[in-house]
Amino acid sequence: MTSPKFPKNELQRLEAVKSYNILDSLPEEDYDNITALVASICDIPIALIAVLDTNRNFFKSYHGIPFNESPRDISFCGHTILNEDILIIKDARKDKRFIDNPLVTEQQAIFYAGVPLINPEGFPLGTICVFDHKPRELDKSQINALKSLGKQVVNLLELRRKNFILEATKTELEDRNKRLAVFASHVSHDLKSPLANITSLTDLLKQDDASRLSEDSKGYLNYIEESTTVLKDYIDGILRYYKSDELLKAKKEDVELSELAEDIKRVLVSNTDKIIAPNTTIQHINKAALSQILINLVDNALKYNDKSERIVTIAYEFLSDHHQFKVTDNGIGIPENQKDKIFDIFRTVKNDFGKSSTGIGLSTVKNLVEKLNGQISVDSELGKGSTFTFTIGL
Ligand code: ADP
Repeated sequence: MTSPKFPKNELQRLEAVKSYNILDSLPEEDYDNITALVASICDIPIALIAVLDTNRNFFKSYHGIPFNESPRDISFCGHTILNEDILIIKDARKDKRFIDNPLVTEQQAIFYAGVPLINPEGFPLGTICVFDHKPRELDKSQINALKSLGKQVVNLLELRRKNFILEATKTELEDRNKRLAVFASHVSHDLKSPLANITSLTDLLKQDDASRLSEDSKGYLNYIEESTTVLKDYIDGILRYYKSDELLKAKKEDVELSELAEDIKRVLVSNTDKIIAPNTTIQHINKAALSQILINLVDNALKYNDKSERIVTIAYEFLSDHHQFKVTDNGIGIPENQKDKIFDIFRTVKNDFGKSSTGIGLSTVKNLVEKLNGQISVDSELGKGSTFTFTIGL
């Protein structure tokens, strides 16, 4: 007998084989169905899906034999992968490559037909093959079936590889997100305590030395205080942005909209403003996420508002496959060319209104709405007010 040679690109071929994570994997129904089908179509006792490892043939599926691997140096498949076409040995006892081969002498592997499993990069990973204990032939349709099912095996292997890559990417992304959230929370806590010190020290300075301070100095101190507040809002915003995904895990419940509006009013300490909402019960909705969205929108509606009486109306409609909300204000409005951009993170609109902003709130809202299978958009008229419309999937 002659042992099969290694293909010229054996090292790259082995690397390709390993990328499928198939070696030593457990039997799977998809592959076993194919070998059973091959055995039936070819009317033959043994059908295998073999993957060629360094020194062995690993059988991903083995129909008609009780073992899942055999040495590569005595294998028929080792010869098959050296060419692109099917290899048929009608009677191995008469083929000098297989005379004295223990598979022939001890296991009566007399007839063999094998098709190489060639992956999209051109590497032969293994074979789909059949054995019989007597000399015989395959007819044209049996050969075609063997070739077609070989392609099917390659497709299955490709799907498997893509799934592994997807899973690995997903795990890595989840890990990164977790690390990023921890990082964001560390950074914000580490920044927040020195900021709190600056605020209280500035306050002390203002109180203690009020009489000795010039008007300019008082102005500078106020400026320090304002900047510190902006920075604190910025940090809180970033923290909320990273934590907003946590809200998506909250259970759904029934929500009384007018009560929620009262809660929001308390949170935003806006006793003098009108926040109008109907006495409607919204059934089965993520209250935590809805509250976060409405707090952000109502906060903006009051913040970007120059009217003496600030009015915010929350409207609700149950549509066939989603909840729809509208938050309308009588504020400063948004320029037409900024309407889409304001949902981007860190995007703010310059206004003469003197309100400092971080540009994190609306992107947090958009992120939440989209993860709740909804959409958000805005209609606005400069000087008159804006209406934010958002939906939440059922
Ligand atoms: P911030 O958290 O700083 O308020 P947002 O992301 O919530 O930032 O908003 C982005 C920008 O969109 C704000 O800087 C503001 O100019 C504009 N904006 C948001 N809501 C309104 C509104 N109701 N009326 C007018 N302008 C608004």
